[in-house]
Amino acid sequence: MPNIKLHNTKSRHKEDFTPLDSKNVRMYVCGPTVYDRAHLGNARAVVVFDTLFRLLRECYGADHVTYARNFTDIDDKINARAAATERDIFQITEETIGWYLADMASLVALEPTIMPRATDYIVQMIAITENLIARGHAYATEGHVLFDVNSYSNYGALSGRSIDDMIAGARVEVAPYKRDPMDFVLWKPSDAQTPGWKSPWGRGRPGWHIECSAMVHEHFGDSFDIHGGGNDLMFPHHENEIAQSSCAHPEGSFAQFWLHNEMLQVEGKKMSKSIGNFFTVRDLLDQNIPGEVIRFVLLSTHYGKPMDWTQKKADEAETTLRKWHELVKNAVPGALDAFVLDHVSNDLNTPGALARMHELAKAGAADALLSAGQFLGLLGPDLDWWQPKKANSEATARIKTLLEARRQAKADRDYAKADTVRAQLAAAGIEIVDKPGGLSEAVITNSFNPDLLG
Ligand code: AMP
Ligand code: ZN
Repeated sequence: MPNIKLHNTKSRHKEDFTPLDSKNVRMYVCGPTVYDRAHLGNARAVVVFDTLFRLLRECYGADHVTYARNFTDIDDKINARAAATERDIFQITEETIGWYLADMASLVALEPTIMPRATDYIVQMIAITENLIARGHAYATEGHVLFDVNSYSNYGALSGRSIDDMIAGARVEVAPYKRDPMDFVLWKPSDAQTPGWKSPWGRGRPGWHIECSAMVHEHFGDSFDIHGGGNDLMFPHHENEIAQSSCAHPEGSFAQFWLHNEMLQVEGKKMSKSIGNFFTVRDLLDQNIPGEVIRFVLLSTHYGKPMDWTQKKADEAETTLRKWHELVKNAVPGALDAFVLDHVSNDLNTPGALARMHELAKAGAADALLSAGQFLGLLGPDLDWWQPKKANSEATARIKTLLEARRQAKADRDYAKADTVRAQLAAAGIEIVDKPGGLSEAVITNSFNPDLLG
């Protein structure tokens, strides 16, 4: 087995990874708040931790790794979306979860072993909150329950900040009912229009951070192996998770390793919904960029570095993948190449693994290239986007009819109609090449979609 090394945010060093129990390796990753399509930044986090999941399965066996990624299905952003669209909250979260799973599957991300939804853990969140009050780490006031940050001396240790830095750097909500502006909400009251649950503090809903502490504890207990997420979550979300879980379960040590992926950027700025400079995975797929190409681009930058999405990178990835697919089309996947495994084991050095795959391709080592690709979620057997597109007999007949309609329109000097037919064919990914003698030929391009033939 290779020696897995991971950069642990807790120590700020690359450390040897040894699980607490090699028969039960446990990884938790903060998942999406579900009210809108996943953007490419969200996808970066998914592909990073999918790669780690694949590595752990390779090393410890698929049955000995549990990967949990939650859905935040109660949140004020979801409530706001429901109010703005006059839709039911449950309808919005269900629909968004469906989109999310489909979009991440197009990026060849494996589904996590468990995908808990926050609203299924309200009872556990109330129990932790009561526990924290009983231990003197939280207080109830005016229908709210707040975590008392001054009761936990390690607060700020993960992100390495002092409380003063945190106050200066964060948008801390100052409220009259808080003992300290840094105290954060565990529970808050809901009015009649807002979703709420019965609790010892009246009808209300949980704060954001408590859900992950509750879900982790329910599935993994007091101590587990890896906690992941984007580095935008390090503070306050992860700092607050640690404070809650460590104070509620002081006998445990919560996550042994913390991994944070750097942000996906657009022109140097974090891609984010609140800034509005984001595009969704669906947008890219709709532009006929195959999911495998998006995945390749995401893998080509180390997760610890910021990355920019560019069309040039997508074009180069597509050219490479087309070559590789051609090369492996008759290959039989063999044992996983040791260099590829070593690169990925070395703090997920995916650019190194891709460079090694380029070498394998150059050397014509098709079997090794194929197994390396499949390990990284590339070159899979059902990824056929790179093959020349063909029309079936029904589509062929329809294309002939349209070509004939265009020929007739031109003969009738109805050029507007001829142009409409050409546009219709173009929309379905068919180019018309006019030949001498009034003949036309239909050329099927890579973006061919027979459903759009009308
Ligand atoms: P959210 O739905 O914004 O809470 O984010 C879900 C996951 O995506 C979290 O792990 C975030 O850290 C991650 N994430 C959000 N924005 C980006 C980004 N621009 N680049 C990389 N990861 C991100
Ligand atoms: Zn979380």
